[in-house]
Amino acid sequence: MKPIADRTPTMVQEFKNFYHTSPTHVAIAPGRVNLIGEHTDYNEGFVLPVALTRDVRFVVRPRPDRQVRITSLEFDASADFDLDHLAYDDSTLWINYIQGVAMMLEAEGLRLTGMDAVLSGNVPRGSGLSSSAALEVAAAKAFMAVSGQLDALDGPTIALVAQRAENKFVGVQCGIMDQFISVLGKAGHALLIDCRSLDYELTPFPADASLVIGNTKASRSLASSAYNERRQECETGVDLLRPALPGITALRDVSSDALEANKDRLPETIYRRCRHVVSEDERVLTMADALGRDDLAAAGRLMDASHASLRDDYEVSSPALDAMVEAMHSAPGCYGARLTGAGFGGCAVALVEPGREQSVADAIYKYYPKVTNIWPDVYATPAADGARVIELL
Ligand code: ADP
Ligand code: MG
Repeated sequence: MKPIADRTPTMVQEFKNFYHTSPTHVAIAPGRVNLIGEHTDYNEGFVLPVALTRDVRFVVRPRPDRQVRITSLEFDASADFDLDHLAYDDSTLWINYIQGVAMMLEAEGLRLTGMDAVLSGNVPRGSGLSSSAALEVAAAKAFMAVSGQLDALDGPTIALVAQRAENKFVGVQCGIMDQFISVLGKAGHALLIDCRSLDYELTPFPADASLVIGNTKASRSLASSAYNERRQECETGVDLLRPALPGITALRDVSSDALEANKDRLPETIYRRCRHVVSEDERVLTMADALGRDDLAAAGRLMDASHASLRDDYEVSSPALDAMVEAMHSAPGCYGARLTGAGFGGCAVALVEPGREQSVADAIYKYYPKVTNIWPDVYATPAADGARVIELL
């Protein structure tokens, strides 16, 4: 795994080549990995993500008018739009995230300035590390910077603006975790988010811990149908438990003890789905506590338990994800590992001793392709900073 070079100087050069002038700001927003708390968000529970060292960034310069011109380095394409005539663009998907952010920022009362921009990201796209949230949050920061309104909105509001852009303009239903951590992440910390109240708290991520992420590169084609089915099963669970537990509105309100006491009310499958969600919520809080005490062995065991629960009770793992987790485990210095994201593909994350990242990567490269016939990608990251803007002039 080679260290990641700072892309800003290259992007500044591209900006000069393209626009024949110098940029004024770079706006940066990271992708994220969820340490624990899977399928808890729509049950109004807890999640514990960290920001990655991989990000999406915009190098920008304000324009005197309301035109926005963007050059995407990854797509090797340019697109433009007029802030006074925002409209969904069927031919260029990525520009819609940026238009959506502009629309939702103006709905919050900001008056935006046009800009020229170069866009580049190294968050793998469509792999569950949330390149889309990074793109939205970086776009929001870029618009706020060129419009001289960097302090106009607080972090949670920026996250909500970004989520609204994805839900309402792009048309993808996503929760709030990804945008929250991309805005509010902090180096050396994880972010404990209560998905019901949106209360959040930075919790220390130990200095003597590191993360290795293994991208299975496996198809996620089952993910969306299973996702809808699991959501439905959780709702059924709540409906069946409510007569015994009056007042509950989500699995968030059910403790393990209450679930066990009312097990007989639930069909076996629904019971196991509920057991995952209820136990996962408890693991998130225990994990935040374990990380705060620097108890990496306990944190690793919680990640293992989370994976087993997602595999056996929630049934959203896959042979590729199980192989990835097994490969991570086989390496010395791995405290624990689990699938991260909705499941059926995407990534797994391992908590590892710093300095052992390469040995975990080597174990993945050696074992995973033999089992799956797929060549994986591996990324190492500490818990990194959230979104920021740097002045270039
Ligand atoms: P994920 O968020 O899990 O990475 P999504 O499907 O939600 O996957 O978002 C991926 C989409 O976000 C891409 O198809 C593209 O439209 C947009 N995107 C992400 N990164 C970039 C980038 N560097 N440049 C342009 N668009 C990007
Ligand atoms: Mg996304």
